[in-house]
Amino acid sequence: MSVAAMTLQLDGMTVSVETGGTSRKAKLTIDRDGSLQLKAAPDIEQAELEHFLASKRGWIYRKLAEKQSLRQESVVKELVDGEGFLYLGRSHQLRIVDTEDHRVRLQRGKLNLPRALAEPGYDHLIGWYRTAGLTWLKPRAKDWAKRLHVVPLQIEVADLGNKWGSASPSGRVRIHWATMQLRPALVEYVLAHELTHLREAHHGPAFWQLLTRAMPDSDQRKSELAAAGAHVWQGKSA
Ligand SMILES: [Zn+2]
Repeated sequence: MSVAAMTLQLDGMTVSVETGGTSRKAKLTIDRDGSLQLKAAPDIEQAELEHFLASKRGWIYRKLAEKQSLRQESVVKELVDGEGFLYLGRSHQLRIVDTEDHRVRLQRGKLNLPRALAEPGYDHLIGWYRTAGLTWLKPRAKDWAKRLHVVPLQIEVADLGNKWGSASPSGRVRIHWATMQLRPALVEYVLAHELTHLREAHHGPAFWQLLTRAMPDSDQRKSELAAAGAHVWQGKSA
């Protein structure tokens, strides 16, 4: 079977395939937004491409992890009953509620948004991620700081654009509110990663060594984080 315009799947990631040219060698590239492209000769077999792609799995995860950024896949949300919002890896249905209480709350698995707050929109939900997230992060930051022998000055939850987290030399560690949608093991990876930066500013061997010593499965988490980024909402409305 020859390959026309097509896509392949790898671990839930979509790889667009472009055929043409004269090169016999297939070529895989990763865009800035983390999307994968495969260029191949027109007469190459699909099975051969799939095999090639699978052989690149390690490289793909490494590259995606290096980007260490949220992928701009534009997950959009609507402020309607039933819309799903992730928190710590679990999806919670939004419920617009008539209540005097003007606070976003997670109750019995539902994310309750008072009707009065539903109009101006997402700020209140994002605000909820920030407050709930900070409460969740604080004790864990303490644990990881102890394990990494660092003393963070301040932990914050903020909007960090396309970064999961940041750390400043002054000791301020910030975690993107969108990170709070990921499962706990991945949020803790981001947290531990940023805390490690308080000792090693750059991603050199010493940095990875410190992080791995404190978190032996950090490599695995790093790869998962790269793949999970696609499902994270960054505050974009429908
Ligand atoms: Zn880093």
